[in-house]
Amino acid sequence: MDQIAVETRKSPWGSVAPAPPACSLTEVMSEQLANQLEEEGHALTTLADPAADLLLSDEVSDTTSDLVLAKVLQMQFDREFDDQLRREEKRFNGDSKVSISFENYRMVHPYEDSDSSEDEVDWQDTRHDPYRADKPQTTPRKGFTGKGKNITTKHDAETCGRKNTARMDNFAPEVHVGDGLGMDLKLSNQVFNSLKQHCYSEQRRSARLHEKKEHSTAEQAVDPRTRLLMYKMVSAGVLENINGCISTGKESVVFHADGGSLEEQPVPGEVVLKVFKTTLNEFKNRDRYIKDDYRFIDRFSKLNPRKIIRLWAEKEMNNLTRMKKAEIPCPEVVLLKKHILVMSFIGRNHIPAPKLKDVVLSSEDMKNAFYQVLHMMQQLYQECNLVHADLSEYNMLWHEGKVWLIDVSQSIEPRHPHALEFLFRDCKNVSTFFQKRGVSEAMSVYELFNAVSGLNIPVGDEDEAEFISEIMALEKRNEDHVQRRGKKIFSVASEDCDPPLEPDADD
Ligand code: ADP
Ligand code: MG
Repeated sequence: MDQIAVETRKSPWGSVAPAPPACSLTEVMSEQLANQLEEEGHALTTLADPAADLLLSDEVSDTTSDLVLAKVLQMQFDREFDDQLRREEKRFNGDSKVSISFENYRMVHPYEDSDSSEDEVDWQDTRHDPYRADKPQTTPRKGFTGKGKNITTKHDAETCGRKNTARMDNFAPEVHVGDGLGMDLKLSNQVFNSLKQHCYSEQRRSARLHEKKEHSTAEQAVDPRTRLLMYKMVSAGVLENINGCISTGKESVVFHADGGSLEEQPVPGEVVLKVFKTTLNEFKNRDRYIKDDYRFIDRFSKLNPRKIIRLWAEKEMNNLTRMKKAEIPCPEVVLLKKHILVMSFIGRNHIPAPKLKDVVLSSEDMKNAFYQVLHMMQQLYQECNLVHADLSEYNMLWHEGKVWLIDVSQSIEPRHPHALEFLFRDCKNVSTFFQKRGVSEAMSVYELFNAVSGLNIPVGDEDEAEFISEIMALEKRNEDHVQRRGKKIFSVASEDCDPPLEPDADD
């Protein structure tokens, strides 16, 4: 009686069918029974119920364990979720040739159980596996192959071991796995899985290192296309020799070279090659200089990023040409080839002129330098119709008792929507530098700004914020005016006088 009560309590799902009578050893070994079992096995594989495995296994038939039941239900839930994902993936991809995978969102991952050999179908290399049958060999659900005495289970250590050895073929080519197959090596699942993990982490590490190396070479030197262009200049005789790098900046690399000869134009004995970097990261920040420059606005939007970099070189060439016309001391343009600008060298005997920030000058020279800079800024604004926009002691060289202006690729016209803000920044750099160097004649930033621009913005209490807001209001009014009438309110001497820019013949 007791026994029956226990039996009923054991199965919350209802009455349990009586267990089949135990069979004898002869029956177990019988071929007929094996066939029968096999058929049942086939029938079971068609079962869609994802929890079927677990429900059929011995542990689960003991339904008293809440933990097991919960696990079974969770498994069922997870697999249903995965089925749903698969359906959505299919619907999303449709017939498209490019498909996306929801694999990462799956709840049940075939590889997660690292000691299981169930994952072999996903892992196995189908190209070469001498231990593999012609057809993909999966262990049937019943868990064994063969008949009668020759039954081999899926857990057979030898078979698994050999398969694992063969699966090492899947490792990356640089991993030397040796001739495991030749010596009939059998790898346990555990050893195989740790080898697999090691192999993966090594691959990731080497990828990271490689990436770094590539990046650093790109930082320091020029890319092969640029090298070829430079080589062509030498072989065409424009340059005698390229000697070495003077400076590596964020946006450019500057080389010193000996000048050769160019048709109808004498090339200076010493020149520099300013190579604008073709990596775009730094230039992105500078879009605002060129994007709103009316001279380039039509072309900017139509160009791909590499060509935008050529625009910088072109811009520097145009600005230098204007400055030369106004007789501002600056490098003379020799040649522009794509993103390489060749210009005269400021310095002597391979030694570049020092930057104003590095040079030690007498107070008289320093005072003269200030007046020269003031005059150059006025010329730049009034005659060349330009604002330097990166003027500081870093971009002024001291050579033959004079200040020379360089680095004008970002210089813009005063009608640029932010030109006055850039001018204010230039004035601030200049004024601060000369005041720090003890030039008592150096004007304040506000006086300098008004002296350069010819605008009479009231200086008041020398409140920077107030001054800048005046500047911005002026820019805004000017911008509105330009939009309405194509004209600016405040006056600058010359209009855009650049020749039309020819597209590059090589493009
Ligand atoms: P970047 O945009 O990288 O600052 P620059 O035009 O300022 O480029 O050039 C970087 C450095 O190269 C300068 O600080 C200067 O030392 C040197 N340099 C550039 N042009 C010349 C030149 N024409 N003659 C001598 N040195 C130059
Ligand atoms: Mg510079």
